[in-house]
Amino acid sequence: MSSHDASGQRESAGGDAVARAADEADLADTARLARAVCGSAFALIHRPGAPLAGLVPPGLSPHDAAALGRLAGTTPVIIPNLARNARTAALPAVVGSPSLRFYAGVALAGPDGRPLGTLCVLDPEARPAGLTAREAEGLVALAAQAARELRLARALAAARADRDDLRSITEAAPALIAALDRDEVCRFANGHFARWFGLAPDEAVGRPLQAIIGEADHALRRPLLARAFAGETVTFESPHPGGDGRHALVRYVPHRGPDGAVLDLHLLGVDITAETDARAALADNALKFRAIAESMPQMVWSTLPDGYHDYYNPRWYEFTGMPEGSTDGEGWNAIFHPAEQPEAWRRWRHSLATGEPYEIEYRLRRHDGVYRWVLGRAMPIRDPRTGAIERWFGTCTDIDDQVRARETLARGREALEAQVAERTAALAEANARLTAEIEERTRIEEALRQAQKMEAVGQLTGGIAHDFNNLLTGIVGSLDLMQTRINEGRTQNLTRYAGLAMASAQRAAALTHRLLAFARRQPLEARAVDANRLVSAMDELLRRTLGERVQLEIVVAGGLWLTLCDPNQLENAILNLAINARDAMPEGGRLTIETANAHLDDAYVASEIGVRAGQYVCVCVSDTGAGMPPDVIARAFDPFFTTKPIGQGTGLGLSMIYGFAKQSDGHVRIYSEVGAGTTVKLYLPRHLGRAADEPAPATGLPVPRAEHGETVLVVEDDATVRALIGETLTDLGYRVIEAPDGQTGLRLLEAPGRIDLVVSDVGLPGLNGRRMVDEALAARPNLRVLFITGYAENAAFGNGHLAPGMRMITKPFAIEVFAAKVRAMIEPTRD
Ligand code: ADP
Ligand code: MG
Repeated sequence: MSSHDASGQRESAGGDAVARAADEADLADTARLARAVCGSAFALIHRPGAPLAGLVPPGLSPHDAAALGRLAGTTPVIIPNLARNARTAALPAVVGSPSLRFYAGVALAGPDGRPLGTLCVLDPEARPAGLTAREAEGLVALAAQAARELRLARALAAARADRDDLRSITEAAPALIAALDRDEVCRFANGHFARWFGLAPDEAVGRPLQAIIGEADHALRRPLLARAFAGETVTFESPHPGGDGRHALVRYVPHRGPDGAVLDLHLLGVDITAETDARAALADNALKFRAIAESMPQMVWSTLPDGYHDYYNPRWYEFTGMPEGSTDGEGWNAIFHPAEQPEAWRRWRHSLATGEPYEIEYRLRRHDGVYRWVLGRAMPIRDPRTGAIERWFGTCTDIDDQVRARETLARGREALEAQVAERTAALAEANARLTAEIEERTRIEEALRQAQKMEAVGQLTGGIAHDFNNLLTGIVGSLDLMQTRINEGRTQNLTRYAGLAMASAQRAAALTHRLLAFARRQPLEARAVDANRLVSAMDELLRRTLGERVQLEIVVAGGLWLTLCDPNQLENAILNLAINARDAMPEGGRLTIETANAHLDDAYVASEIGVRAGQYVCVCVSDTGAGMPPDVIARAFDPFFTTKPIGQGTGLGLSMIYGFAKQSDGHVRIYSEVGAGTTVKLYLPRHLGRAADEPAPATGLPVPRAEHGETVLVVEDDATVRALIGETLTDLGYRVIEAPDGQTGLRLLEAPGRIDLVVSDVGLPGLNGRRMVDEALAARPNLRVLFITGYAENAAFGNGHLAPGMRMITKPFAIEVFAAKVRAMIEPTRD
């Protein structure tokens, strides 16, 4: 490309459209010059397929213009009068408007000889003289000038197309591409200028480099530019001039002209930020690795992918005492113990071939010649993208102490295992023996328990049978006597015999009571009891029971609290304790019964099972008798436990007392010493209410009688008992209605009529007494009921708690007690 072209390209930097307008203006100027030279009215340049340029006759059609254009040749064609010329006379522009007459034209010669167009002058007047020689010469010269201009314009368009092509080609390259002329002015720039400098390529072109990259960066590049302009290809890396942290690889390539002189520089820039960063990271990693490897207490080494050792940390050299670098490659092998070398090699080759981690224990020669056990390990480091192994990193850890400890341990363990096996066998044998012994003992104990039980049953049967025999003898004997006397018509002493029979029967009842208490199923009728009053009332009875040789002392505490219990049971308990005391003092002695307020504290109850801390009333019975050895104390509360000969003891006294104490939420305890005597303390819970009215005394008082024809309903399934109760009540003056079962009783209760009291058995066939009363309450809400219960029915009353207006009497009972109860229940309704 010529320098002229180059300057043309520079001028056209404003755009192709401007360039084209300039070309058209040039052509028009040339046409106007031709008009002036030839003195014609019009002059124009016609090119096929292009607009007309110059001073065009108004109304000239393109067709006529083309026809006129075709007239011209390389030498001027002059037609003085178009109307007289055969080729033009019929042209509209001649015949009609603008009515042209004169024509002179020259073809514009192209580079290949073919005409590019025509320059012609036109006139409405015919010019018979045509053109003068000077005019013709001028016209030819101007045609040549126009032809040159057109050729130039074409070349320029071609050059522009070339430049555009170049730009779009360089656009595809991932690089900034530019050309600088000798003045360092940018002549060419591709699209990367926009990305690098924020300049459109057309804005970059025409600017000096200094204006593009800035003063400071330009100063840095000046020597490099000088070298490039001197003919050297200069490559350098530099931070991107924008100061945005990016990195560029820049190359200046000198462009020489045909004479070898440097015309301009081609400039190439590639963004290598990613590569620079990666390189920096790699260098950083290497540094870090070194820092870690050197600071580790272990020996560290590294190899190339093929296993060539090229790095050892200082620990390795310290341990082996080898000169630095002497173990590179395969030099390490010599320091291994010969016994491990083949295996170490085998495994190392296997790892190198497969990429599997390497691990082996081997002996490594220390600097002092001593071999020490070492654990060798290595791992491959792979390229994250390709997976190819880049390096191997390995460590050697001195495990000599562990290995020796392990060996010692293994030896110790063998010995230990042998010992354990031996002991285990011995133990198993001992265990088997023990198991057999335990089984044998269990079997014997079982047999013993069975024997004891049989013995107890024997004692019970014997004892009770004996007792009952005696009692029955008393009753039957008395009745026999009465029978005889009645048969003989003698009535004296009948009351005495009846009394004897009664006494025996009462003792039998008491025995039954004791048995029931033992079974702990006897119903309780708990009420507030003044123990002082109760004990004092027993004085007479006790003295008679104990006999002359036993001295009785009763000591009652002042301000004694009330207690809540069944007074009959309490009496019974005291009686039993007194009898036990008497039995323990066959030669006589002293029996003391004391009462006291007592507080069982936490420390005391902690040692006793099932006892609550709190306030109690204590009844304490002491004797000066034989006392009990500990084993007797331990078993004294057991039912049927007795040390007395068959027939004398039942072994139920203390167990009954125990049952009573537990049922009353109390507690009982024995203190005894052989030869010194015995104290039994009975604790009953303090009651914070008022004392109940004393029940009518059981004996010796006149039986209360009915007064106003009160009516009692008796519900009882046992005909004998029913008859007995009925007669008793009738004797006492009550009106009696009898019912044999609950159903009948309920019918009678639901019918109108006076019923002051119901006396009902609890255990009735079908509807039981309790349910009968519950249902009857609907009709008679204020009904008073005296239940007769046996032990089995106790549960029906939820532990003996009764609704108001209801009482309970336990079978068997004395008639006078029964009568007193009936009276006590009916009385409040009078008034
Ligand atoms: P029983 O009086 O029928 O033998 P207990 O249950 O009342 O049955 O007494 C059990 C046993 O406790 C008695 O046989 C006796 O060995 C012993 N025992 C009870 N009270 C005393 C006491 N005050 N002195 C000595 N031993 C007693
Ligand atoms: Mg006893």
